[in-house]
Amino acid sequence: MAVIITDSCIGCESCIPICPFDALGINGEGKLVASKEKCTECGKCVAVCPVSALNISGGKKKANDILKNETKEGSKASKSEKPTGDVWVFAEQLEGKLSSVTLELIGAARKLASKLEVKVCAVLLGDKVESIIPELFAYGADTIYVIDDEVFHFYRAETYSKAFCYLINKYRSEILLMGATTTGRDLAGAVATAMKTGLTADCTGLDIDLEKRVLLASRPAFGGNIMATIVCERHRPQMATVRPRVMPMPEPEVNKTGAIIRENFEIEEKSLRTWVLEVIKEQSENAKLEDAKIIVCGGRGVQNQEGFKLLQELAKVIGGVVAGSRGAVEKGLVDHKRQVGQTGQTVSPKLYFAIGISGAIQHTVGIQGAETIVCINTDSECEMMKLATYGIQGDVFEVLPKLISSFKEELTEVSKINNKGLCKIAKEV
Ligand SMILES: Cc1cc2nc3c(=O)[nH]c(=O)nc-3n(C[C@H](O)[C@H](O)[C@H](O)COP(=O)(O)OP(=O)(O)OC[C@H]3O[C@@H](n4cnc5c(N)ncnc54)[C@H](O)[C@@H]3O)c2cc1C
Repeated sequence: MAVIITDSCIGCESCIPICPFDALGINGEGKLVASKEKCTECGKCVAVCPVSALNISGGKKKANDILKNETKEGSKASKSEKPTGDVWVFAEQLEGKLSSVTLELIGAARKLASKLEVKVCAVLLGDKVESIIPELFAYGADTIYVIDDEVFHFYRAETYSKAFCYLINKYRSEILLMGATTTGRDLAGAVATAMKTGLTADCTGLDIDLEKRVLLASRPAFGGNIMATIVCERHRPQMATVRPRVMPMPEPEVNKTGAIIRENFEIEEKSLRTWVLEVIKEQSENAKLEDAKIIVCGGRGVQNQEGFKLLQELAKVIGGVVAGSRGAVEKGLVDHKRQVGQTGQTVSPKLYFAIGISGAIQHTVGIQGAETIVCINTDSECEMMKLATYGIQGDVFEVLPKLISSFKEELTEVSKINNKGLCKIAKEV
């Protein structure tokens, strides 16, 4: 039942902007009306009405009580048409393989959902993606919304955002999380725009203000100098993107199941503005940075392509991948796709070489998950030296050839790289 408006209403309209679901408005006769389809009974309007003219069926209820009751009802039914105000996660997949950030986000969603006492739902869009469902349940999803159709074979903002908005309008999501991947960033922006709601990008922390029942989305701001916590009180869903490897991976629970809600959402291929003609895969040398165990990252101090050839040789010897700071990207030494940092990628390798990189906060914010950092720099006082596990003071062009030949001598396989070995090599150089 939607919110009930009594004769006491004085038409002050103070409830209208408060409603996160745009369910209240003034009709042609100047009277306040509520949309049954849109109202989720969240109770926010009841709380602001100065003349107690609004209530929910059965008398005035607090938002918390209402949502708790909804959850109990929802958990009884495997398929509920009733708006639930759950925490949703976009199940990003490519060719039937889930992205790791989806599973990390399900873990983060579980913490938020537990505080709100609601469910964790995954939204799975794609073509022949049924086989992914058990993995989503195992990592913590309670309910999975599935739209399986060949029109969703390739990701397109147009098709995916339309399907997402259809699901949100039908089932009402309170919070929606997506990975800050190329796809997730694109889709999140499109959905937030269509739903006229707010989106906090690249969050590093997520929590709930229980009193207001709002998402607290934290992220670095002003060049990483402060942490800003952003809230979206008046619009739903509250949306946030999180980069891969920022949230911990939850432990899977084998054989866990839940509710599956399959939806048909037909879009005619002919009606679309974008057709995918061909997909060209990245070469193996462009291996995903986010998954790399060893990264050899060069900065402006590497100076030229000759310097980067040394980085590539080192990477080849130790089984790593090459990346760059923004300084190196701006110099045209590395492609932007391989930039590490605030406006590049967040990485968490076991071993990170920072070569000719000063250690600006916008760079180091992207390597917080690195286990061991080796800094090579002429300046022993630079910020990167302070952060590094091991520091080698010296010129790239002198240090790297020695390091490469030492590794060639000492290593027969990548797995032999450990702190002890590095320490020894560093001393020798
Ligand atoms: C909004 C914003 C977002 C940003 N996002 C990013 C980001 O995502 N990633 C990023 O990296 N930066 C980012 N930056 C830029 C960042 O502030 C720095 O400017 C950048 O990281 C500097 O790159 P660098 O360390 O390679 O170059 P520099 O700061 O110029 O450092 C070069 C280093 O090389 C050393 N060096 C010089 N010659 C040699 C040599 N021969 N041998 C050894 N060492 C040598 C120097 O001592 C110095 O420490 C961002 C900035 C802003 C404002």
